[in-house]
Amino acid sequence: MTDTALPARLLNVIEDDILPLTARGVAAGNKIFGAALLRKSDLSLVVADTNNERENPLWHGEVHTLKRFYEMAERPPTSELIFLSTHEPCSMCLSAITWAGFDNFYYFFSHEDSRDAFAIPHDLKILQEVFGLSPGGYRKANAFWHSYAIGDLVATSDDANKAVMQAQTARIKQTYAGLSGHYQAGKGGNAIPLN
Ligand SMILES: [Zn+2]
Repeated sequence: MTDTALPARLLNVIEDDILPLTARGVAAGNKIFGAALLRKSDLSLVVADTNNERENPLWHGEVHTLKRFYEMAERPPTSELIFLSTHEPCSMCLSAITWAGFDNFYYFFSHEDSRDAFAIPHDLKILQEVFGLSPGGYRKANAFWHSYAIGDLVATSDDANKAVMQAQTARIKQTYAGLSGHYQAGKGGNAIPLN
């Protein structure tokens, strides 16, 4: 695995594995957030899933993916896995990733994107209200894990496929904008506490 192979693979997993699940989830009234676990060794997919808050408000994309992972009969140790989140994890999911033993996570959209582009202000509001942290105030590298914004990896890549990754990034953002529009239009009666 080269450094440049990683962001390309993460973008492909978002587009090919997570987004189709999220499109179905949003059609059922769930939020747009999804996640996936990949093997560090060959970047193969272990599991992908999406938000399922209509069933349980704790089923954020990340936690719902972990639920599915721990339902698998055979699974690799989390120390051998990459945690991919479409959106920078909220405080609950940050803790879930930590408790499950991951030493990393990679995200596509930031907390600020969730607030500004998706009208989901809860991540930043919880960090402020519960923990007294301003935006970006949590420790993105610490004794448990390092976190990475996929956009930063693409921006600093000297891969020949950089333009392809940038075009794919734009395409993924456009798809999420459409899904977000569906979610926001239908969320009025969904009974999700922080919708
Ligand atoms: Zn979360």
